[in-house]
Amino acid sequence: MSDRYGDFVQSSIGKKVAKNLGLPMPTTLDRFESGERLVRGSVLVGRATGDDKSVSESVARILSDVHAEVYVNSSDDIKDALADAGVEAKANTGGDDQFKVLLFDASNISNAEQLKELYEFFHTVARRVEKSGRVVVVGRTPENITDIETAMAQRSLEGFVKSVGKEFKRGITAQLIYVEEGAEQNLDSTLRFFTSARSAYVSGQVVRVSKGSSVDVDWNQPLGGKTMLVTGASRGIGEAIARVLAREGAHVICLDVPQQQADLQKVASEISGSALTVDITSEDAGAEIADAAQKRGGLDSIIHNAGVTRDKTLAKMDEKKWNMVIDINLGSIARLNRYLLDNDVLKENARIVCVSSISGIAGNMGQTNYATSKAGVIGLVNATAKQLEDNAKGMTINAVAPGFIETQMTEAIPFAIREAGRRMNSMSQGGLPVDVAETIAWFASPASGGLNGNTVRVCGQSLLGA
Ligand code: NAD
Repeated sequence: MSDRYGDFVQSSIGKKVAKNLGLPMPTTLDRFESGERLVRGSVLVGRATGDDKSVSESVARILSDVHAEVYVNSSDDIKDALADAGVEAKANTGGDDQFKVLLFDASNISNAEQLKELYEFFHTVARRVEKSGRVVVVGRTPENITDIETAMAQRSLEGFVKSVGKEFKRGITAQLIYVEEGAEQNLDSTLRFFTSARSAYVSGQVVRVSKGSSVDVDWNQPLGGKTMLVTGASRGIGEAIARVLAREGAHVICLDVPQQQADLQKVASEISGSALTVDITSEDAGAEIADAAQKRGGLDSIIHNAGVTRDKTLAKMDEKKWNMVIDINLGSIARLNRYLLDNDVLKENARIVCVSSISGIAGNMGQTNYATSKAGVIGLVNATAKQLEDNAKGMTINAVAPGFIETQMTEAIPFAIREAGRRMNSMSQGGLPVDVAETIAWFASPASGGLNGNTVRVCGQSLLGA
């Protein structure tokens, strides 16, 4: 899909025109390429003062594992944790050095006054982050904290991170990870995702990492040996999901309606996966999926991506449009999950990932049916997450909520509304299907056992519903 304005501002004349008129200046975002280093530059890492070193120790171990070039401020006591993990950190001398990643362990911040340590760490380097840079703050889950001042200070981190996401521009993203005490070893997959080019269009997000069981993976092929099913895989976002999961080592069962058979077959054969033509609203959809899955020993993951829009204002919407959207986008997911769980089609440590939408968070003109269905998906994820926590099989469920993604669906939107959707976010551009797919691959990883019940927006920090 083409973004002519985005291409224009990359030219020297386009840059001048946009600057003089104060128009948005979208940056070409870094995106992941197979075989590349996880972090494409150096990392400045810091830590708020306090006794608890468990987050820093995990951060240090991960940095040593990914062989990142690490800098610290001279006053910082994270140096010890880094040294213990075998990382030789250089000193940030305050010169012109640029950083790809600013990473701050804020887990010890316990009152309003101590929030100043955030200011002190970020203020001096705010202009020294490279294009497509990453800001990551790690804190403690406020809901689990009983001390009022500590809970308050930890909750404050959200406002800081979301503002940084809006301020830094140039494709720089900002995220907050709340890690439960005792779950620090589960930070790996999330830190790797948020510091790399895989999270190109994810910004201003808050993720909760809890104690669920994560499985060790080969980080070059984290989905190796896994069987994963993607609904709506013949085109658009679903096709991108199937391709990324296959790139990461999974065998992908690509599912779509019979009318899409030719395109579906093409995608499946290009990624050495298999094709399954099923309408997910049909009565025997669960049984057909179960059959296909059992041939491969069960499912390690199901990605509920298939979805439709049938937009009309409520007064003009006929019952058929309402029923169809609710059934495909929501009812079928609830039915399939129930069937797959009841019939043990999903294996231990299975990952369920649902595709919601920021329309389900913000609501949208002409989309009462769609927004109802997509808000319902978030409700389904929250309720199922609690159930999975109790069943002790290590399964998780999470959702992604895409914003404006360049697909056939958004190409059909009238020009003015399309331009508004495309620009009204911190990246000043639409995302690509691959951005949603990378986020899903992170949730689908066996190493993401600490992620359960999260909804992460892939929307470039859209102003809608923010
Ligand atoms: P798309 O229309 O290009 O693809 C949807 C796929 O789902 C199609 O291949 C279609 O055949 C399949 N499908 C529809 N009904 C089905 C059924 N009953 N059984 C099996 N398959 C069925 O759409 P897309 O833009 O790739 O969107 C994919 C998902 O992302 C949807 O859930 C959509 O709501 C969501 N989403 C998209 C955007 C965006 O900007 N494109 C934004 C937010 C959310």
